[in-house]
Formats: sequence, C-alpha cells, structure tokens
Amino acid sequence: MSWRLAKSLIQLRTQINEAFPARDKSSDGSIGDTAHSARKSDHNPNANGVVTAIDVDRDFNDGHDGRELVSALIASQDPRIKYIIFERQISETGNVTRWSQYFGKNAHNHHVHISVSGSAKLYDDASPWKLNFKAKASLAPPTPLPRLFKRGSRGEGVKALQNALMDRGLIPKGKADGVFGPKTEIALKQFQSANRLTPDGMAGTVTLKALGL
Ligand SMILES: [Zn+2]
Repeated sequence: MSWRLAKSLIQLRTQINEAFPARDKSSDGSIGDTAHSARKSDHNPNANGVVTAIDVDRDFNDGHDGRELVSALIASQDPRIKYIIFERQISETGNVTRWSQYFGKNAHNHHVHISVSGSAKLYDDASPWKLNFKAKASLAPPTPLPRLFKRGSRGEGVKALQNALMDRGLIPKGKADGVFGPKTEIALKQFQSANRLTPDGMAGTVTLKALGL
C-alpha cells in the first residue's frame, strides 16, 4: 500500500535533524509494523494514505536527549500536535501541557512519539515549527517513579496488569476491576514462576517489563 508521511512531520523531523546532526536514529519510525496495523494507531496510514505520527529516537548524542524535544514541543503549544508519548506518559489530546500515565504496550522509554492532528489542514501544514532547543528549562514531565503493584493496589495500572494476565489466560476473560486481590496475586505468581522470575506476587519493574507493560 502506498503511503506518505504528513508534511508537518517531515518538516519537524528535518528541524530535529538540523538541530542534532549527530543524533541516533535507530529507534526512529513512521509507518507502523504489522503489530500496529492490527489496532488503531496514528502510525497506520489514514483514509488518504497519510501517516500522522513519528517516533524519534531519544538519543540525541553530544549530551542531548529527547527530553529537550519534548520540552520544546510543550513550550511551542503548536496546534498541530495531537499528543506526545514519552517515558510512560501521554499528553492530553489537544493539550500538550497536561500529562497522565500511559498504559500502552510500549512504554516509550527509548523514543518520543509525536502524533499530529487528524485534520489535513493541520497535518499537512509544513510551516516551520517554533522549537527553542536552547531554552534548557525542562517542561517535560518528570520521569515517573518505578511502579510496584501488589495486594491492595488499585487503579488504571492494576487494570493494565489484569488485562495482560487475561491475555495470557491466567485469569478468566472479563472486565478488569482494577483492584489487586487474591486472584490477581495467584495469577501473577503463576506468570512469574513460568517466566523464571521471583514468584513474590508483586509486579515491579522486571515483572511489568516481562508482561510488556
Ligand atoms: Zn510511536
């Protein structure tokens, strides 16, 4: 299938490359892989064959980091931005200054994801982005604390954990209730044992990573 990248993103990528000529591009991306095409993603071409998202490797080299790009994008408040995903956090659609925890499969620890608006007028607006990389003041959300879910934990993170255990057939399919009770604990211990992790029934960094969270 033929596709092209939104013009606003071609322009953005050009500016990033000019600002950080030595940057590592190995985690860069635009069009989605087969895993993406199975679900709704801005990395899949839209009805007009246009991809409206890019991933930018966070390793900018020479002492620079993708966090500087996130900060500059937040400061720009550019109306073309739909949302940004970075370090397990996602900005609110249409409001780049508000962030919340991201529970998608990929934590985005190695790249910055930028989606642009679904409106052709905006996504194909190729005017230069106002990015001040020199203003080092970090507006990017702080790196979140390591996560740990155990008996008694509640919330969206527990829901994501329960869904991951359901996907593996360790708890019966149904609605994740977001409450970490005995059934979740038993299922988690089974997962840990099967994956040669310490079966402590607590989901910390290593276990969550093994679950793809
Ligand atoms: Zn992405």
